[in-house]
Amino acid sequence: MEFSSEDTAHMVYSKYAGNHGFNIRKQRRTKKKKEDEKVARILYVCSKEGVRKEPKVNRSYTRPITRCGCKAHMACYLQSSRRYKIVSFDQNHNHELVRTPMKHLLKGNRAVTVSQKQHADDAEMSGISAKATIEMMSREVGGRENLGFLDKDYRNYIYRKRMAEMVKGDAGAVLEYFQKKKEDNSSFFYSMQLDEDDMITNIFWADDRSISDYNLFGDVICFDTTYKTNDYDRPFAPFVGVNHHKQTVVFGAALLYDETTESFKWLFETFLGAMSGKQPKTILTDQSAAMANAIVKVFPETKHRLCVWHIYLNAAKNLSRIFHGPDQSAMDFGKCVYDHEEEEDWLLAWNDMLNKHKLTENTWLKNLFEVREKWAMVYGRHTFTADMVSTQRSESMNSILKRYLKSSFDLLTFFKHYERVLDDRRYKELVADFGMMHTSPVLVASVEMLQHAEEVYTPEVFTLFQKEYTVIGDYVAKKKSKSEMMYEYNVSYRGGAREHLVKYDAANQMIHCSCMKFSFAGILCRHALKVLDKKNVRRIPPTYILNRWKTPNEAVKQSIGKRYSHICRTFREIASVAAEHIELTMCADKDAIELLKKLEEKKKDLVRANKWMPDSLEDKLVEEEEDDEDVPNVRGIKRKNPCGRPKNQKDRNHGRFKSVLEKKNRGTSKSSSKARAKKKLFQVLIYIICFWFMSIFIKM
Ligand SMILES: [Zn+2]
Ligand SMILES: [Zn+2]
Repeated sequence: MEFSSEDTAHMVYSKYAGNHGFNIRKQRRTKKKKEDEKVARILYVCSKEGVRKEPKVNRSYTRPITRCGCKAHMACYLQSSRRYKIVSFDQNHNHELVRTPMKHLLKGNRAVTVSQKQHADDAEMSGISAKATIEMMSREVGGRENLGFLDKDYRNYIYRKRMAEMVKGDAGAVLEYFQKKKEDNSSFFYSMQLDEDDMITNIFWADDRSISDYNLFGDVICFDTTYKTNDYDRPFAPFVGVNHHKQTVVFGAALLYDETTESFKWLFETFLGAMSGKQPKTILTDQSAAMANAIVKVFPETKHRLCVWHIYLNAAKNLSRIFHGPDQSAMDFGKCVYDHEEEEDWLLAWNDMLNKHKLTENTWLKNLFEVREKWAMVYGRHTFTADMVSTQRSESMNSILKRYLKSSFDLLTFFKHYERVLDDRRYKELVADFGMMHTSPVLVASVEMLQHAEEVYTPEVFTLFQKEYTVIGDYVAKKKSKSEMMYEYNVSYRGGAREHLVKYDAANQMIHCSCMKFSFAGILCRHALKVLDKKNVRRIPPTYILNRWKTPNEAVKQSIGKRYSHICRTFREIASVAAEHIELTMCADKDAIELLKKLEEKKKDLVRANKWMPDSLEDKLVEEEEDDEDVPNVRGIKRKNPCGRPKNQKDRNHGRFKSVLEKKNRGTSKSSSKARAKKKLFQVLIYIICFWFMSIFIKM
């Protein structure tokens, strides 16, 4: 018998051993003196060949003895034909051979196949543990013994794969990942900031879907840096917002080196660059002086609001002595956050609260008062926040990230798992879109106003609208004044003392309520709806239907930029199906060319019929510049100085104020689980208080 190569010889003997019930070992290879180094003689033996040598130093072996001087072997010699011929073969063993039910444990019978490797990769990316994956794979083949490998083989495979990725180095792997993304889709955007030593400091990236989502829903963004990647101790900073279903959408993400004004400035400028320079209307963040400085510089037209959620957490910490006391200080503080429509009333309430709870000298409250315009609802009623009064969105984004990401991940794994987060978010949107197409919400009464709302709004927004509309029967509108077509009403709940002033201009169908719900939430309030009802207005005036809450069909009627984003989504779906099979690709390709011809014809018709109007300049799509940028010459990823801030940090003074909770969080890493449970309970309580206030004060 002859073999073409050393590998074939090894494979054949190994298979033979597996079938017969023993393990093999490669004993000796004799190299030929010259001749391109092909091995001249190979000897395979039974793994029980020889005897264990006595240790040179006096120590006891922990591994059990396997050798018993077995003589079974196969020896091959290289022929002039350059093939290996078996020159000696002994099939007799001096020990028992492994019987069938245990044979799968032999080395020769074990290997992770290509398809199993694919399975393992998918499972790893889905965050499924090795143990669970092996269990599932065994069930598929009817038991462990049919699996073809042992747990340790599987773990070795995963380990070797990770090692191979690590060889490239974090920076190399990250760079390769981004380039691959860019190759797959040229609209993928990424940018890295390098320091003077070519080390990566800050990274920002966004895919085409994020960019088109921003075009549609980027009027309000939440930005938060609470989540830290452990390996590099870098803040992970996602830009998130809400879509037409009021679901969280991600507009892009950054890994920051630090939280200085410089870093934030670079990030916001890069973000603007990726988003064709479109500034958001409102940005919600945590309290950070460095961030605030950067926002003023880069987003001069944007309203900056502070996240009420963080303020609450900090209040509970700083005022803990009295916050949980019996004298309603939490309630009074909540009123100062959410309540009041007039600044005068608010200032009175604030002073009352300080005096009542003896807090006039409290420094934390003094500082908070300084920035009141950024958080007190009385100053924020005219600022559109898509009904997100806090960075609750990034907060929930944080809890989502924690579910998907582990602190032990290296950067590359982090990026890959972050993609899963995006995929899942987008899948949820798809499901919601599907739901919208196939079902319609139940109207509490078949009145024209609700029918109209159902037509134009997505189900989630319709539900909110309907909630406002159904209670108008409980409100009393008293006419205050009337001049020409202008009406003024005082609207109150069942004629109570608390009144909201609603002004209605019948000529232009313009309505304004002092609660300003439309300004910050984007839907009309019950008070305005009450007055519209009184004036026999049966449909929502067009000014009060925001594009961002419309169903996609309605949204198509919007500006060129939004139409572009909308059509991109449709074609993305077509492309993903078309790519599944060559025949589908060809079919799509053919029809696409037809479609293009049809569109050109239609365009000509429109021009002939004088219906062709170029869109306004601001709506013109920004032409993408030819991207022939060189790949950055990166040396590595900048690691943090273990003690304190890096020495070349210029912006020391603008460092971020760490909130008390964050400081506390760092300390708790070693604390007992009891303390953690206590903290969790505390956070849940804050949640409840927060939402309770929101429901009481906003919807009144
Ligand atoms: Zn043997
Ligand atoms: Zn109102």
